[in-house]
Amino acid sequence: EQKVVLITGCSSGIGLRIAVLLARDELKRYHVIATMRDLRKKDRLVEAAGDTYGKTLTLLSLDVCSDDSVRQCIDSVKDRHIDILINNAGVGLLGPVESISMDDMKKVFETNFFGTVRMIKEVMPDMKKRRSGHIIVMSSVMGLQGVVFNDVYTASKFAIEGFCESMAVQLLKFNVKLSLIEPGPVHTEFETKMMEEVAKMDYPGADADTVRYFKDVYIPSSIDIFEALGQTPEDIAKCTKKVIESSRPRFRNLTNSLYTPIVAMKYADESGGLSVHTFYNLLFNFGSLMHITMSILKCLTCSCLRRRTISPD
Ligand code: NAD
Repeated sequence: EQKVVLITGCSSGIGLRIAVLLARDELKRYHVIATMRDLRKKDRLVEAAGDTYGKTLTLLSLDVCSDDSVRQCIDSVKDRHIDILINNAGVGLLGPVESISMDDMKKVFETNFFGTVRMIKEVMPDMKKRRSGHIIVMSSVMGLQGVVFNDVYTASKFAIEGFCESMAVQLLKFNVKLSLIEPGPVHTEFETKMMEEVAKMDYPGADADTVRYFKDVYIPSSIDIFEALGQTPEDIAKCTKKVIESSRPRFRNLTNSLYTPIVAMKYADESGGLSVHTFYNLLFNFGSLMHITMSILKCLTCSCLRRRTISPD
């Protein structure tokens, strides 16, 4: 029997790729309900879905920031029966905190944190009743490790990690599974767009040094890191499919093995100093952040710090 999979944020990026990969499953094991805020943005998904559209893939509108939209969408699903809920919708926010309005910060939490909580709150009771279901949450490496100038985005992903860590315990009692996917950088157009925006803005409220560190030090390094270490949305879709199909899905799933040492530093030094000083040195004490990051990653990838990741293949 087909499993009903509902995915949020499918008009682009990772969500689109997960929807297409599951809809194209050779054994037709999934009925994918791909949702997006604005159905006028469906073309790319419909094109990528090909002949699965209208068969193993259907579309519904859903805004994770609206109680009504979420309720209406779930009510329109047959018997409100969802086997697998994939919380993918999310937004980024980059820049010096001094120049970001409180409203813009709240919007990030509204989508990344409360949006996911709203979805889980709506879908989980039926899963608990049925004593079955799997909830997937698209977190990030930034849900485990803070990253300079990504302060608020990182905080929103930490929030969701804490929420899920707490929920997972209760859900286990109801035979409902919960898994976090934690990608490093992923090439989606969302990232390029954000970088272009950054170049144009002057960040009022932040002093000249901070703006310089952000624009001239952080941004170029970040672009290098994306280029060198970034995964594709397809990679993340394949990892997610593996997690769904695993007989004993893991709770945490890092997708990029190059990032495991960064996360492990935190556990290697409980004072927190190792992480803070390593990131400080990476950003401010070396000419080429990229060059040094690669060498540190290589030397840190010793067996004691290596953690198992989920690989796309
Ligand atoms: P993306 O911008 O292509 O996709 C995000 C999707 O969420 C978009 O389609 C957007 O329209 C949708 N969305 C935003 N607000 C929404 C709302 N209120 N209701 C419904 N949909 C909404 O970017 P992506 O990289 O594919 O991001 C997908 C997820 O992966 C996000 O949660 C993001 O935080 C996470 N992630 C991305 C990266 C990366 O480097 N790109 C790394 C780690 C984690």
